[in-house]
Amino acid sequence: MRKEWIIGIIAVILLIISIFLGIYVYNMKHTKDSNMLDNIQLAKIYNQNSLQNELISTSSLEERISPNGVIIEKQYFKDCDHIIRNEIPAEENLINCTKEELAKKYSGWDIEEFTSNKVTVYKESEGFCPEHYVIRENNGVLAVYTIDKDGLETLKQETEIQTMYLPPEDIEKFKQGMQVVGSSQLLDVLEDFE
Ligand SMILES: [Zn+2]
Repeated sequence: MRKEWIIGIIAVILLIISIFLGIYVYNMKHTKDSNMLDNIQLAKIYNQNSLQNELISTSSLEERISPNGVIIEKQYFKDCDHIIRNEIPAEENLINCTKEELAKKYSGWDIEEFTSNKVTVYKESEGFCPEHYVIRENNGVLAVYTIDKDGLETLKQETEIQTMYLPPEDIEKFKQGMQVVGSSQLLDVLEDFE
């Protein structure tokens, strides 16, 4: 009688253990599956994110001209061997341009430097640069002419400097025409006679 009781209790315990074991194994398998699913979803999300990040970083890597950007135009003139350097703030139609877009707008120019804040373009041209001047007496005042490589003069501006008050030797010089190269030198000469 006592032996049967013990066998009975052991059988019940074994049954309970096997039930719990069954539940445990089932749960573990299920959890593993759902974990795997989670991992796949996470991987998908991660890939999407990294793809987005890549897209963002490519577009930000591609440099664009900022609203504070400056354009430096360097133009070399073969016949006088001068380089004219013109620094101008980026115009509205150039702001946000990429290097490629700028190249289209500056066809004929080489892009020497391209950053968002500073762009340098370069071009070689025939002839004289536009900073070859002749100061000449014209209708009693000094007038400034530009002169090209063939000696052709074009009136640029008339000044208010009257020649009648100048010393005779200077009057003679301006009758012949005084050649000056460079805008700053032109200003210096004119200031001397003002
Ligand atoms: Zn020149």
